[in-house]
Amino acid sequence: MKLIRFGDSGKERPGVLDTNGLVRDVSSRIQDWSGEHLSPKWLADFSKTDASTFPLAPADVRVGSPVPMPGKIVCVGLNYADHAAETGFDVPSEPVVFFKSPTAMTGPNDPIRLPKTARAADWEVELACIIGRSTTNISEDDAMTAVAGFAVANDITEREWQFNRGGQWSKSKSADTFAPLGPWLVTTDEVADLASRRIWLEKNGAVRQNSSLGKLIFSVPQIIAHLSEFMRLLPGDVILTGTPHGVAYNKKEPDYLKPGDVIRCGIEGLGEQHTLVAF
Ligand code: ZN
Repeated sequence: MKLIRFGDSGKERPGVLDTNGLVRDVSSRIQDWSGEHLSPKWLADFSKTDASTFPLAPADVRVGSPVPMPGKIVCVGLNYADHAAETGFDVPSEPVVFFKSPTAMTGPNDPIRLPKTARAADWEVELACIIGRSTTNISEDDAMTAVAGFAVANDITEREWQFNRGGQWSKSKSADTFAPLGPWLVTTDEVADLASRRIWLEKNGAVRQNSSLGKLIFSVPQIIAHLSEFMRLLPGDVILTGTPHGVAYNKKEPDYLKPGDVIRCGIEGLGEQHTLVAF
């Protein structure tokens, strides 16, 4: 299934895509894509309902993030060897982990708003993994039983704040609109073949990131198992799994984001985002 949330920001309703790709409003059945409604078991049961029995959402309605503001957004850094190389860091022996503020999350096509003192905002297209049930200390073998599904994310990062403002990457990752998520949450049963999928980003029509999920250093089950050693993961938590080569930061003259830039990014089968950079 492809789960979606639509409507004005803060007033989104839950929906699903039907077999024709049309958005169906399931708010008569559930309040939101959160809590027990993200558990793999509940989703498997719900997927037996014929989506076309639900009313159509209004045409051209805004698409929100596919889950509401999560308890936490946990990010893995340097998880593609080519990206680690371009940043000058060694390939890590354990996942590099940092937090992104949940308030950074926004819809997949909402504008990315540059904060007042931001001068070096950069892009990072990533596979997001959305947790489906309360989990701690899970093994790699069982890790996928805790996952609701996957989505496209852009881990917008202010490089000046990341490296020259006293440390801790979370400072650079957490401004409003710095985490566009969606358009959909695609449930795990539809994403069995993750490794073959292309992940890409275009800025103003030029391809800047172009890789494959098969190049992840730490796989999704490894990441989930690793994180759950240190913290409890809850339904709706969002895990960002790292970005491939091609960010602005390591160009000789980085072309950081400016108002008017247009970013498109996506992952094969998980949809794409289309965002305008604005003040
Ligand atoms: Zn990232």
